Parts: sequence; C-alpha cells; structure tokens
Amino acid sequence: MRTATHKPVLVVHGGAWAIPDEAAADHESGVRKALDAGYAVLSRGGTSVDAVEAAVTIMEDDPTFDAGRGSFLTSDGRVQLDALLMDGGRMKAGGVACVERLRNPIQAARLVLEKSPHVYFVGTGAEQFAHAHGMTLIENSELVLDRERERLTQAKQREAAGLADDTFSGLEDDKSPETAVARASEAEDFQSHDTVGAIALDIDGNLAAGTSTGGTLNKTPGRVGDSSLIGCGCYADNLSAAVSLTGWGEPIMKLVLGKWAVDRVAAGTAPELATREAMSYLYSRLGGRGGIILLGPDGRFGIAHNTPAMAWGVATENSIQTGLRL
Ligand code: ASP
Repeated sequence: MRTATHKPVLVVHGGAWAIPDEAAADHESGVRKALDAGYAVLSRGGTSVDAVEAAVTIMEDDPTFDAGRGSFLTSDGRVQLDALLMDGGRMKAGGVACVERLRNPIQAARLVLEKSPHVYFVGTGAEQFAHAHGMTLIENSELVLDRERERLTQAKQREAAGLADDTFSGLEDDKSPETAVARASEAEDFQSHDTVGAIALDIDGNLAAGTSTGGTLNKTPGRVGDSSLIGCGCYADNLSAAVSLTGWGEPIMKLVLGKWAVDRVAAGTAPELATREAMSYLYSRLGGRGGIILLGPDGRFGIAHNTPAMAWGVATENSIQTGLRL
C-alpha cells in the first residue's frame, strides 16, 4: 500500500479570448467535465500523467474547443492538430504536430512519451507511429464541423477586405513595440483561442502537463504554434513547476514562455505571481495575449490571462471551481 505524500491538484484551461456570452456555458461545462475525469484519476491514486491525459482527452472530444474534433481549419480547409504531454517526475515528454488523422492527439503524445526514444513526431510520421501502437486513423473530414467551415469563410472575407485577423505575419518586420501592441490588440477582437490544457500534481508529488490545439484559424498548412513545443505552450519538471498556455502562439514561442514561467517558480516566485508576470512580459515585450496555468510541486497554483476571458477550472481535495474570468 502506497502512502500518499501529497494532496492532488488538477488545473485545466479551455482557451483565453473574448469568449462571447452565448459560448460561456459550454466552455464552463467543458472544463468541468475535464476536471471530473482527471480528478477521478488522481483521487484513486493514479498518476498526474494519466490525469492530464484523461482531462485533455475530454476537451479534445468536446467540439466547443479548438482541439480534436471542432478545431479551427487551415487555410485549405483541413484540421491539423498539435499536442504535447510531459511527465515532470520522469522528465519524459511526447509531442505530435500537424496530425490530420487522429481523434485524440494527446493520446498519440502519450504513446511517444512512453514508447519512443524520441520526443517529437510530425505529420504522417506521427500518424504512422500512433497507428503502429494501436491508434485508429480516421478521415480528416470527421474532425471538421460546418461551424468551422463558416468561420473560415468569414476569416477569408476579412482577409480579402484587408482586415486580416492573422496578424502573425507582418509583425515580424515591425520593430516598434507600440505598433505591435496596437496591431495585436486590434487582431484579438477577431481571434479566438480555444486551445486546451491541463496540469496535475499526484499523491506521489509528481507533476505533469499537457496541451492540445488545432492552432489558429486560417493558418497556413504546416504551421506549428507554441502549444506542442516543449517549454513554449507546455512544460513540467518536479524541480520547478508544470505549465500550460494558450493564446497567440508566435509571441509565446519567441519568449519560450512556459519555461520562463516555471524557472521563476524554481527561483522562488509564487506560481500566482509568476503567472501574472508571464502575462505582463508577453504583452510588454511582444504585444502578445493569452492565458496561463501554473502548478508548483507544493500544490500552489496560479492562473492568469490578459484577454477578456479564460475558461479555467481547479480541483483540489476540498473543492472544484470553474470560471471564465479572474
Ligand atoms: N496557442 C495556440 C496556437 O498558437 C492557439 C490557442 O491557444 O488557441 O497554436
């Protein structure tokens, strides 16, 4: 019989953006279901990696979110998914990117973590690896919703009218932080960021993190964002913290913001403060917007966003809480 040394904690998010009132209930119930599934694993003594995988799987299956079925479409009308899972106790990680034929990329990431000496697979190589380890390959059309076809059409119309919401390009050449901030804020009126993530501490004191996404609306095929890149949108190490981010991927990647945040916790900053500092840094340095969840090895956690709303949830031994604002 194992003796529990830690009180389990699970924190999840389902994206950070201007979540409209009509989508609020679905976001909140989606993160709640993810919490229920993940915390059930932790309560029966399961590992943080299992809990994170379970929570993220629920949100990938929920069409509310930009992960799994119901994700945003690429500019050529397909779903391309990215996910990373990291085990901070064993310092093992598994990631997949640009997969088109897997219903649950977080489960493919788990297979990479457990069964490969490598950390990251992309495209058809990732699909074949997952298939060789028992995952079913589906048709891409099974992941595509009419709602997203309509969203893509609207995004292309805005693009044609010069109101491109994909301002990721263009900012690269602009050296003025003020201009970057202004353009980023303008773009965020249109952008939704429904990426999902979970971070957990289990009874043995092991941390894990997972992030899964369909990326950004109207992205160029082959584009990979921060979510599945180690240290950018996801990271876990028992010696620092576990983190998952959402938001505008390109600035998050350039700042390697996940690792930046966990390193602050390792240096003694409380997770709550580290999350707020990470969001300030993202905005002041590159005009980026998003949300972050962060959990230390002592069970203290932080949640922050610099967007109008963020779908979040926290489960501890004593309570389950969800919300859309902090
Ligand atoms: N960070 C994701 C990406 O850039 C998008 C999101 O969080 O919704 O791919």
